[in-house]
Amino acid sequence: MIKINENYLKLQASYLFSDIAKHVSAFQKAHPEKEIIKLGIGDVTRALPRACVEAFHRAVDDMAEDATFRGYGPEQGYPFLREKIASQDFQARGADISADEIFVSDGAKCDSGNIQEIFATDINVAIPDPVYPVYVDTNVMAGRTGDTDNGRYEKFVYLESTKENGFVPDLPGEPADLIYLCFPNNPTGATITKDRLRTWVDFARENKAIILYDAAYESFIRDDSLPRSIYEIEGAREVAIELRSFSKTAGFTGTRCAYMVVPKNCMAFAGDGEKYALHPLWLRRHTTRFNGVSYPVQRAAEAVYSEEGSAQVRELGDYYLKNAALIRQEVAALGFACVGGENSPYIWVDGKTDSWEFFDLLLEKAGVVCTPGAGFGKCGQGFIRISAFNSFENVQRAMSKIRDSL
Ligand code: PLP
Repeated sequence: MIKINENYLKLQASYLFSDIAKHVSAFQKAHPEKEIIKLGIGDVTRALPRACVEAFHRAVDDMAEDATFRGYGPEQGYPFLREKIASQDFQARGADISADEIFVSDGAKCDSGNIQEIFATDINVAIPDPVYPVYVDTNVMAGRTGDTDNGRYEKFVYLESTKENGFVPDLPGEPADLIYLCFPNNPTGATITKDRLRTWVDFARENKAIILYDAAYESFIRDDSLPRSIYEIEGAREVAIELRSFSKTAGFTGTRCAYMVVPKNCMAFAGDGEKYALHPLWLRRHTTRFNGVSYPVQRAAEAVYSEEGSAQVRELGDYYLKNAALIRQEVAALGFACVGGENSPYIWVDGKTDSWEFFDLLLEKAGVVCTPGAGFGKCGQGFIRISAFNSFENVQRAMSKIRDSL
């Protein structure tokens, strides 16, 4: 008899986006004349930067000629892309990362879900609350969580982000071996200072833990004092794996390209206490299961690092950040406290009431769709996430509708 992986039965059904869709379609049915503006989902709305499109086209032409055609590429990614990533995203900022420590992939979602496979099942996992749900569900599937009690998994260590701690979790008071951190954060939009991040790196070093640092929103950082990479912190190479993505940076959500950094001296331990480098384990896993990102996509990603490409990417980020600034300003004028939106495309608003009630209020009174914070974890209750990914005109209209109706 074939048996299923029963850990899948422990997954809590994720109703968030389908529940949102249900609320929206019920409202639309009842009020077909009303305009709806979506500031809910974290998907970009603007086209790829010109430099990326041109590189993409040129690479497709390469594929059309025998002389320049490419078949299987290196699983880890083409050196032309990895070298630019290492020099421009890291070395230029004083972070000592080399091209062979970069693993190009088809998304930070897959990377953040896959990386846990190289760790033992009986480790303690520390998860942010509120959280990007992939960190949770992939550990549930792997059998690291036990059952749920009152909406929380028994074996997780929850790293709470609250008003009290400025939405940057405090160090855990219990053992944590694999620690997920995400800054700028999804969903809160909060950022972390170098000093706070250093406390996490020191904690990981003292406790022989690994930090999985998700920097998918790094390109929205405009405050130069904030770390863009965990490797700007001394000692992080030994204890941190970093995720980056071209999705939000350069509008690649539908094009798919990301990368993960696994430094060669990042170590973990076998049951007998023997030290092992993670790089060869991940290299083995990656090359076994993955045949690389398509050549044209890697050429398009490479264009992000050209002079025109980097200017266009900056402009793209500035566009969404202008939306975010407007949202912040309007939210504050209405008397609501919020975080995020300054070095991040997300604004986390304290709705001073139940998340779903506030969601319904904005939908029914203003026709604006946001995301109820409770969908991201217990600590999200009472908050909503507003996303800056839309046109400036739509954001202006949405905010004026909210202003007029609340
Ligand atoms: N990490 C975080 C925190 C995200 O919010 C997202 C996407 O929304 C991802 C990773 C996934 O990025 P990708 O499109 O590269 O899979």
